[in-house]
Amino acid sequence: MTSEITSEKINTAAQAFSHWKTVNITERIACIRQLKTTLLDNKRQYAEMITAEMGKPITQAVAEVEKCGVLCDYYIENAATFLQDRIIKTEAAESYATYEPLGVLLGVMPWNFPFWQVFRFAVPSIIAGNTIVLKHASNVPETAQLLETLFTKSNFPVGIYQNLPISSKEVAAVIANPHVKAVSLTGSENAGISVATEAAKHLKKSLLELGGSNAFIVCEDADLDKAVSTAVNARMQNAGQSCIAGKRFLIQKNIYESFLEKYILAVSQLKMGDPMDPATQVGPMARADLAQEVEEQLNRSIAMGAKVVLGGHRNDAYFEPTIVTNITADMPVFNEEVFGPVAAIITFDTIEDAIKISNNSRFGLGVSVFTQNIPFIKTKIPAFEEGAVFLNEMIKSDPRLPFGGVKKSGYGRELSEEGIREFVNIKTVLINN
Ligand code: NAP
Repeated sequence: MTSEITSEKINTAAQAFSHWKTVNITERIACIRQLKTTLLDNKRQYAEMITAEMGKPITQAVAEVEKCGVLCDYYIENAATFLQDRIIKTEAAESYATYEPLGVLLGVMPWNFPFWQVFRFAVPSIIAGNTIVLKHASNVPETAQLLETLFTKSNFPVGIYQNLPISSKEVAAVIANPHVKAVSLTGSENAGISVATEAAKHLKKSLLELGGSNAFIVCEDADLDKAVSTAVNARMQNAGQSCIAGKRFLIQKNIYESFLEKYILAVSQLKMGDPMDPATQVGPMARADLAQEVEEQLNRSIAMGAKVVLGGHRNDAYFEPTIVTNITADMPVFNEEVFGPVAAIITFDTIEDAIKISNNSRFGLGVSVFTQNIPFIKTKIPAFEEGAVFLNEMIKSDPRLPFGGVKKSGYGRELSEEGIREFVNIKTVLINN
């Protein structure tokens, strides 16, 4: 059962939809333009709230808010083209596909990028003519409310975007509500299974962005310094709390020792501390219990023979940037998602071995490969069971590029042209004279 307040909000969203779907796309885009202005005008306030609630260093919180502005610009520029009718030549006088909104959408979002995750779901969906009710993670309640206020302040009609301050137990009832047409979840595997199960019970569409255990492969011909500095960011940014973070670092045998030496040095120089201090590079994890979970995964791996070569200690929610070696595929640092600043370093002989090790994971979000032999590695791209392959770059989201996974990392795509077409009815029209 949904509470009365939640039901009222869903009703409001449904009423808003009946008008919003008739509003010309240029007007809907104009609202997003205003949203971007309000967002950037209040950038500091939003970033400070993110940092206060989930501990991200302030410089990274500011960058997250700015990236939401970039996403707005991208869809302001391109959405109308992406949603234009697609003329299809047949024997009929006219035939085309047209993209219509679905209705009220439920978003269930995590705390690790509390603005970005919401923006990348909500902005394209709203431009496409849908309305949103959003259940945010329970440890970012003020950020969740600020997001609703941001839409209100940007002159959106009532009911286009509403925050649902509900627990995860109430999500099933929201999915069951007949006004709610689809659900998008970014979060853990377990949450994905529950949400997809509830959606399936009611034959509603679901999109899942789940966990990852990305491999970061460094071949012997790579630009080693570039690989090392990127590997630091790929694992330690946001205190390691990113689905697309490099988590398993596969280093070719000949360069293993030199990579490790440089990596230990670079990671040991990271400044850990108060996340409000602009000099801080690694802040606390979002909650002490999450840091404890990482500690427990590390300890289980150590008991199986993993060797800590840097860090390894926890103090409340602070977890030291950590590097472990002597990894086997049955260890938690290899076969579970480690959502904290722990890099597992593994060695490999040939690229075929690296592909096998990389694919030996339930997850399939993305893989990075560092090499100078681009023609050779391009022939290997089909062998990777991943949603993304980035060469000489860490995996990162970019509004222009489709984003999503395979295997237990979920299904569906956000961002780019594919993302804006996830929550539309692709209506086929055929006309004979
Ligand atoms: P989480 O526990 O699954 O929470 C994510 C959201 O789902 C929260 O709003 C949470 O609400 C809700 N939720 C949890 N269990 C639920 C259930 N049984 N039914 C309905 N809703 C439920 O995930 P997290 O630990 O906060 O976030 C980290 C996870 O998200 C990692 O696995 C990470 O890889 C993944 N992630 C994936 C992507 C991607 O794009 N692929 C991006 C970022 C993060 P409460 O907070 O109230 O429990």
